[in-house]
Amino acid sequence: QTQFLSLSLQATMSRPVQARRLEGIDKNIWVEFVKLAATYSTVNLGQGFPDFPPPDFLKEAFVRALSGENHLMHQYTRAFGHPPLVKILAQFYGKLLGQDLDPMTNVMVTVGAYQALFCCFQAFVDEGDEVIIIEPFFDCYEPMVKMAGGTPVFVPLRPKAPKDGKLMSSADWQLDPAELASKFSERTKAIVLNSPNNPLGKVFSRGELQLIADLCVKHDTLCISDEVYEWLVYDGKEHVRIASLQGMWDRTVMIGSAGKTFSATGWKVGWTVGPNRLLQHLRTVHQNSVYHCATAAQEAVARGFQRELELYGKADSYFVQLPGLLQQKRDWLVQSLDAVGMKPIIPEGTYFLVADISEFKSDIPDVPNSDEPYDSRFAKWMVKNKGLAAIPLSGFYCEAHKNTYSHFVRFCFAKEETTLKAASDILQKWKREKSSP
Ligand code: PMP
Repeated sequence: QTQFLSLSLQATMSRPVQARRLEGIDKNIWVEFVKLAATYSTVNLGQGFPDFPPPDFLKEAFVRALSGENHLMHQYTRAFGHPPLVKILAQFYGKLLGQDLDPMTNVMVTVGAYQALFCCFQAFVDEGDEVIIIEPFFDCYEPMVKMAGGTPVFVPLRPKAPKDGKLMSSADWQLDPAELASKFSERTKAIVLNSPNNPLGKVFSRGELQLIADLCVKHDTLCISDEVYEWLVYDGKEHVRIASLQGMWDRTVMIGSAGKTFSATGWKVGWTVGPNRLLQHLRTVHQNSVYHCATAAQEAVARGFQRELELYGKADSYFVQLPGLLQQKRDWLVQSLDAVGMKPIIPEGTYFLVADISEFKSDIPDVPNSDEPYDSRFAKWMVKNKGLAAIPLSGFYCEAHKNTYSHFVRFCFAKEETTLKAASDILQKWKREKSSP
C-alpha cells in the first residue's frame, strides 16, 4: 500500500489540461492592476467600486432578510429570480418601457451583470458567429465572445477635438456611421452596446442609438444592451433604452446591476430584461451553470426597488440623489486633473473619467524593446512612485488597436471626498515637483 501511495504521488500528468476555448484569453488586466493597487497605492481610483456605503434603507433590508423570522431567506429560492425581485423589476422596467412585462418570462436574475453577459454569449453565439463590440469596451466582452466560439469584430468610437480650447467631453467620441455599417454582415449575430459606456462615460444619444437600431433591424441582429450605469447620468442628459426604439424590443436583452444601481458591487445581484423568446435561452444557460443567486441579497434589492418605485422621480429617490452626488465628485476630479495638465474628458455618465496623459511622457522612463503601451507603463509607474492607482485605457481595446489609444488612463470617482482630496494632493505635489528645476 505504501508503494502504491508513493507511485501515485510521483505520477505527474502529461496530457494537456487546458480546454482550447481558453487559448489566448488567460491574461487579464484586472488581475495585474488590482494586485499593483493593493501593493503600492495609497489612493485607489483604479477599480470601479464606491468606497462609500450603500444607502441605509438597502443595508437595513438585507439585515432584516437575514435576521427576520422567515428562515427561508437562507434557502434556495426560484432559480430564475426570487419572486418579489422579478415582480418589482417587471413593474419598474414595464413603467420605464411603457409596456406590460411578465415577471416570470421577461425578467431573469443573475449573479451580477457579469453572469447576465455570460448567459447571453453562451445562449446566442455559435462557432463562426460574429459579435460587434464598440471600443473602448468593458474588457470581459472579448473573452466571453471567444469562449462561446464567436469572433469579436471591433469598431472604435472616434474622438473629435473640441473647438475653442474647451475640455473634451465623452460626447466628442462618436461612431463613424459608414465604418459601423461596414462591420455588419450575414455572419453578425449580435452587437454589444454599453450606454452609459465604461470607461469613457459616453451616453449614446437617441440619434446614435437609432443608427445602431436601424442596422440591427436591417441585418436581423441581436442587441446585448449593457445598461448597468443607467441611473448615473449627468447634466440633465437622458438615458435612452435601445429596447424602446421601434423594432428593438424583440431583439434586445437589457442588462442591469444592483452593484451600480445601489452602490453595492459586492452583493453581485444583476438581471436581464427582454422578450421570452430570448430569455428562455438565458434560462437554459443559467439553470445549467450557476442555477441560483443569493436569496437574502435578492430580497433586499427587491425592497430597494419597491422604495424607488414609490419615490420615482422625487427628490428623496436614491436614483435621483446618487447622480447628484456623483456629479459633484466628477466636477471636482475634472478640476483637479485639469489643474495639473492631465486633460480630463468630461463623462456624461458612469462613475469613470478618462484623462489624457500625453503631457507626462517625459516623466516616465522608457523601456527599450518593450511593446507595452505607454498608458500601461504610465499607470504602473504612477502607482509605484506616486501611490495613485488608475487603469490604462489600452486595456479596453483589442490587441490591434491598443497602441492607437495608449495615452489615456481611467479614474473612478465613486469615492469619498477624503479619497478624492488625497488624490488631488498627490497630483498637486507632482505638479510642483515638475515645475521646480
Ligand atoms: N458591465 C459593465 C459595463 C461594468 O462596468 C460592470 C462592472 N464593472 C459589469 C458589467 C459587471 O457588473 P456586476 O458587478 O453587476 O457583475
